[in-house]
Amino acid sequence: MSGRAQLMWDEAVTGYDFGPEHPMDPVRLALTRSLVGALGLDREVEVVAARPAGESTLRLVHREDYIDAVKAASANPGAADGAYGLGTIDDPAFAGMHEVSALIAGQSVGAAEAVWRGDALHAVNFAGGLHHAMPGAASGFCVYNDAALAVARLLELGAERVAYVDVDVHHGDGVQAAFWEDPRVLTVSLHEHPATLFPQTGWPEETGAECAEGSAVNVALPAGTGDAGWVRAFHAVVPEVLADFRPQVLVTQHGADTHFEDPLAHLAVSLDAQRAVQVACHELAHEYAGGRWVALGGGGYAVVEVVPRSWTHLVGIAAGRPVEPETVIPEGWRQEVFARTRQLGPQRMTDGRWPVSWASWEAGYDPADRLDQAVRAARRAAFPLRGLLA
Ligand SMILES: [Zn+2]
Repeated sequence: MSGRAQLMWDEAVTGYDFGPEHPMDPVRLALTRSLVGALGLDREVEVVAARPAGESTLRLVHREDYIDAVKAASANPGAADGAYGLGTIDDPAFAGMHEVSALIAGQSVGAAEAVWRGDALHAVNFAGGLHHAMPGAASGFCVYNDAALAVARLLELGAERVAYVDVDVHHGDGVQAAFWEDPRVLTVSLHEHPATLFPQTGWPEETGAECAEGSAVNVALPAGTGDAGWVRAFHAVVPEVLADFRPQVLVTQHGADTHFEDPLAHLAVSLDAQRAVQVACHELAHEYAGGRWVALGGGGYAVVEVVPRSWTHLVGIAAGRPVEPETVIPEGWRQEVFARTRQLGPQRMTDGRWPVSWASWEAGYDPADRLDQAVRAARRAAFPLRGLLA
């Protein structure tokens, strides 16, 4: 019997800190955790701290020489010279880097284990979703790929079909790479077009290795895509491939950097559309994966205005107590925001764009529209390989 949803949380994950000049400020995690508490959601979930991922778990995805390099950089950050992506501008080395990265990975692996064993139907690790880390290199603010490790652990436990859906503004390249040759894992990524954004991959033509054709699906959205287009693209691709694949578990990555206020990318999505897609992921888990859902965080660099609200909505949805968009944010949380950041926090759990309206793909598309062209390219490249009509 499945208990309540699990929220994976260990205060020590806020030690994932590349320093004061780096955009991935861990205050976003602390503020999310306290907003979850301020809205009373932590009484609706089981808050669990899993153990850090050990060596044998990390090796499910990462090369041994890379793990050794992370440990060395962690013990002596000054010596990291850019090898293995460590000691770079994106991924500066810091003391304790191995330990905290393994702790975050452990939360996602623990979430996967809980869902697989039926201890919880849904589990959330908003500190996770570090989808750019490669088997042998750090990349894009990511050291260990907790998302890929969660999927790999599910396979190790006996899962035969795991679906990974990534709606971060950046391509989920590390997860795609980890399972490029594995037909047991379907990876679907919706992201800003690689021509305009890091990591410059995620073209529709990336559909998996020959032995796993059609196991990768990429929707490359034009810069500037807003709510209606983003939600339309999600629904034009994701439900159909999940219905076909019939995953035993759905793992989703909810990077909040699609938001119009995000400083590192160029989509124009609101909090309200992010919430709508979170709700859709939850429904899809129930429809096609027996309800088994592991939900992760990801990118998100509007650390006060956007990230805490977005992932608090995610926790509410997983908890079965979705937060109404019009909800007023408790003053105590806003005081904490000011004390920690000298910024004024948002006042409501909405950007005022609720409800989000969008047109369904089945009702037709416009060949001259750039968003529709992006959806068509994704469908045309991947759907026939899965035996689906493009
Ligand atoms: Zn991102």
